Amino acid sequence: MTKKEQDTRFIKETAYALGFQMVGVSKAEFMEDEARKLEQWLNLNYHGEMGYMANHFDKRVNPSLLVPGAKSVISLIYNYFPEEKQHPDAPKLAKYAYGKDYHYVIKYKLKELMKMIQGELGEVSGRVFVDSAPLLERDLAKRAGLGWIGKNTMLINPKKGSFFFLAEVVVDLDLEVDAPMKDFCGTCTRCIDACPTEAIAPEGYYMDGSKCISYLTIELKENIPPSFKGKMENWMFGCDICQDVCPWNRFSSPHTEPEFKPADGLLDMKHADWEELTEEVFQKVFKKSAVKRTKFSGIKRNLEFLKKKD
Ligand code: SF4
Ligand code: SF4
Repeated sequence: MTKKEQDTRFIKETAYALGFQMVGVSKAEFMEDEARKLEQWLNLNYHGEMGYMANHFDKRVNPSLLVPGAKSVISLIYNYFPEEKQHPDAPKLAKYAYGKDYHYVIKYKLKELMKMIQGELGEVSGRVFVDSAPLLERDLAKRAGLGWIGKNTMLINPKKGSFFFLAEVVVDLDLEVDAPMKDFCGTCTRCIDACPTEAIAPEGYYMDGSKCISYLTIELKENIPPSFKGKMENWMFGCDICQDVCPWNRFSSPHTEPEFKPADGLLDMKHADWEELTEEVFQKVFKKSAVKRTKFSGIKRNLEFLKKKD
């Protein structure tokens, strides 16, 4: 086995031991096709108020600019599919937000991985990322053979579905790269048909982020436009519809990460509890959760919007 193969094997085995479900490698280089696609998406103004998507364009499409001498990108997936369910009449939260904020949980694991790589392989420079830097995470994961980008624009793995977080380690190590996977969406259009706000382009693969319920309930700072009244399907924070309907998610199995266990009391909350939510209860239940991103005022705004009928 060559040194490159040995290093790659060590990194993958270590990542699996830390709880990541899949690991793949791609070359740190300019991503030409993806750059073109991102440019088109930005020109269509599909990023809404997410101005950060337009920032750092050069770095976003070229991970080798993020770390001096970068040679490889290690892409990883971490399952968050919950076993538990919310009360059926409660306003809905995206599944990824049930437990502790994934940024902390996964960043800690990535740092551990980096330390172990440096401990075993000597002087290695690198940076770890989880939803935190200008990186085209889904495209990198696709290049690393972890799945294909479906018509719902999520990364889909044929054995794991799509309910997982993506993370990356960019390193100056030369590693064995993986081969990309083919697209298995075929003639399916379930996600496009099910999206209540018609955020997914009719032919799929493009999303108008400014129409997506995730954007409207989390990213948008102003009031939700009245044109979305009656279309939110009771989603209060994020939306999982285009993943819930995807046939590949029948392969999702529950995570085993204790940090992602739902916050105490969260799943007992019924419709009336949400209606009466006070700032004190919000701070307690969501103390360590990603839901804090919207702040109490954001959740209240979303709940008010769900109540409006006309
Ligand atoms: S997350 Fe919901 S609103 Fe956004 S594209 Fe998917 S189904 Fe549509
Ligand atoms: S629902 Fe169908 S079309 Fe949409 S991502 Fe899944 S397989 Fe692809």
